[in-house]
Amino acid sequence: MYDPLIESSPAPNQGYPSSYWAKSLDLIPKTNSLQTSVQADVAVIGAGYTGLSAAYHLQKHYAKKVVVVDANEAGWGCSGRNAGFVLPGTGRLSLLEMEDKWGVDSAKGIFHEFMTSIETVQGLIEQGNIDCDKTPGGYLKLAHRRAKVATLRTQAEKLNAQYGESVRFVNSKEVNRDFVNSANMYGGIYFDKCFGVNPLKLALGYLAMANEAGVTVFGNSPVVDWQQSGATHTLRTSHGQITADQVVIATNGYTGTNLHDIVKQRHFPVLSSIIVTRPLTEQELSSIQIRFGLMAMDTRRKKYYYRLLPDNRILFGGRGAITGQQANDPINKQRLSKGLEATFPILKDIPIEHFWSGWVSASYDKYPRLGASDDESIFYSMGYCGSGLAFSTLAGKRLAQRICEPEALPQLPFWQTPLPKFPFSSFRRLGLKAFYLLANIRD
Ligand SMILES: Cc1cc2nc3c(=O)[nH]c(=O)nc-3n(C[C@H](O)[C@H](O)[C@H](O)COP(=O)(O)OP(=O)(O)OC[C@H]3O[C@@H](n4cnc5c(N)ncnc54)[C@H](O)[C@@H]3O)c2cc1C
Repeated sequence: MYDPLIESSPAPNQGYPSSYWAKSLDLIPKTNSLQTSVQADVAVIGAGYTGLSAAYHLQKHYAKKVVVVDANEAGWGCSGRNAGFVLPGTGRLSLLEMEDKWGVDSAKGIFHEFMTSIETVQGLIEQGNIDCDKTPGGYLKLAHRRAKVATLRTQAEKLNAQYGESVRFVNSKEVNRDFVNSANMYGGIYFDKCFGVNPLKLALGYLAMANEAGVTVFGNSPVVDWQQSGATHTLRTSHGQITADQVVIATNGYTGTNLHDIVKQRHFPVLSSIIVTRPLTEQELSSIQIRFGLMAMDTRRKKYYYRLLPDNRILFGGRGAITGQQANDPINKQRLSKGLEATFPILKDIPIEHFWSGWVSASYDKYPRLGASDDESIFYSMGYCGSGLAFSTLAGKRLAQRICEPEALPQLPFWQTPLPKFPFSSFRRLGLKAFYLLANIRD
């Protein structure tokens, strides 16, 4: 599998991974690859949620001429292979950590932005009439140890009393009675505004909206060279080139080694993997008693997440391999199967019909950023740390605002400061190994 810490860009014509989502498509899209020289006001690199949302908002609301290029088809990166949880959040900082870091007002502003990101996805689904198998069901954040319950309870109380949000704290009995009969869970917070989607259909819906607004999207055209001369950027692909005044980097966890210095060493690509079971039998369903459409994630350092899909399969995800070369090793699938079995013992040995992985982008200080070059001609948004479905959609809109109407941006740390560089970046993978070992003990 492509490895962004080793290769300069993803190879073209790879096709979607053999995921449950790709199987669900009636028609596999085929965009033209770039074969000529084209000009744009803004060139966007990467056709995931960030890039497509940025392109759509730039063209639709600010009348910019936008060209998007992707190394493969739209949604080939994380956007077409995630778990489809539309959640309030990004990064890995808790409410309390955000309050300590930036103060209560900024933490409230950030949480408000998280909720806005869900509304942004919902708004686009409605505007674009996107058929993405949207499933209500809400999201449950679950304590995997008794010691975590108090933290979740405090968080729920804070959200209700100070943040103007309405969430429900549920104790372990209520989890089992109202949501899911899962082993070793001790309570949680339920967010009823969250919903599930088929993420690839969502990405292709954004693609259709961008096209309709007038954006040109070229697939199977990785950017392999980038030159800047004065105010003009020239991006070269194997058979064509784009000249543009401004460039948006929307390559997130798939950013290769040499795309541009502005993003070098500023994020860490980490693999997350998913398994999907065969449809559950009536007996299995009545044993695990999972609420229709429920999405859940636990408080482990190496988080497990799962949801009941509309056709009664369980999608179960967690950490993947360390390197791209190891990504398809069966051990990764077995690790998730064990996690599934520990969560739902009755599903021991259930056939797994799909397994795939994708690169999420972790940032050094656990939250993402929208950054810009000093001459305001290059912009990026990345570092969502594994939960960027809703946030990247909003980030695309914020990128368009940053370029065309910067005064409209909320004053929040996400939008105003660059991603910090990783110190000792060559040791990131060693650090990840150590983190996983430590997490095994602590979790
Ligand atoms: C297994 C898994 C499960 C996840 N589950 C969830 C979830 O349930 N909820 C949630 O909120 N988040 C989830 N995420 C994270 C979420 O999917 C991402 O944060 C989000 O999709 C990021 O979108 P993006 O557009 O920024 O990047 P991506 O969708 O990764 O797009 C980047 C694109 O850049 C292209 N690219 C890279 N280099 C070049 C180049 N040189 N030239 C041209 N194109 C290039 C790639 O081909 C790729 O298509 C999950 C991620 C994974 C991997």
